[in-house]
Amino acid sequence: MSVKNKVAVITGAASGLGKGIAATFIREGAKVAIADLNLEGAQATAKELDPSGKMALGVAMDVTNEAQVDTGMAQIAAHFGSIDILVSNAGVQIVAPMEDFDFGQWKKMLAIHLDGAFLTTRAALRFMYKQGKGGAIIYMGSVHSKEASLLKAPYVTAKHGLIGLAKVVAKEGAAHGVRANVVCPGFVRTPLVEKQIPEQAKTLGITENEVIKNVMLKNTVNGEFTTVEDVAAATLFFAAFETNALTGQSLVVSHGWFMQ
Ligand code: NAD
Repeated sequence: MSVKNKVAVITGAASGLGKGIAATFIREGAKVAIADLNLEGAQATAKELDPSGKMALGVAMDVTNEAQVDTGMAQIAAHFGSIDILVSNAGVQIVAPMEDFDFGQWKKMLAIHLDGAFLTTRAALRFMYKQGKGGAIIYMGSVHSKEASLLKAPYVTAKHGLIGLAKVVAKEGAAHGVRANVVCPGFVRTPLVEKQIPEQAKTLGITENEVIKNVMLKNTVNGEFTTVEDVAAATLFFAAFETNALTGQSLVVSHGWFMQ
């Protein structure tokens, strides 16, 4: 099982989990397109992870924009000669109580998480089917693909939705050797989570330490954050697995916060 010489597209890879997955995949010999809304960040990450310039490519891609996704994917296929793995990871968080949730913010959340997953999957599948050598699609879900939390209506809705999408892609992709799975992390201290700690403290009227202990890590088995490396290892497992035996599945990496 290996990703050596495979071409992986990772969205939202200029930061956090995507960046960590990119580092792991490059270390394992894959060529990686770092696709991000933030082109400067994507290019800087590509340079940082691969000073040789051969294994990583920074690409501008707003995953909610159909034309940008299709153009970006074509650019990546032309540059590296193939598209074998998609990690649909780009995401943001916006928290508010249901009764105050702004409709525009709701739509923005669903666009990034669900339209983004749809558009990048469709573009990647078109290359994978044409190439005829299979492929792996991995969605960045969350414990919130299985559980709910206060203040996160669109996030929980979208992350649950990714499991449905993965199951359909698993069924449709099977004839082409394309597998689709979901990685579901618990809290990881990326910029996305660092931002939430003071926001939740303010909304819930508690201290930041209380948010960490009593909200984020309360139900873990040992009060620990999941790490970027933990999530990258689970993603690598799905990416490298070679047969349709492992498809349409979701794997929770959360220090036991959620157990199925
Ligand atoms: P992050 O903020 O560190 O990184 C997110 C990246 O996505 C950024 O580089 C940003 O520029 C990019 N991005 C945002 N909107 C985009 C768009 N429209 N098109 C392309 N790129 C865009 O966040 P992270 O914690 O690394 O989160 C990555 C994914 O992991 C998200 O889907 C998130 O929901 C999921 N996740 C995170 C955690 C956690 O605890 N950090 C837990 C479970 C799931």
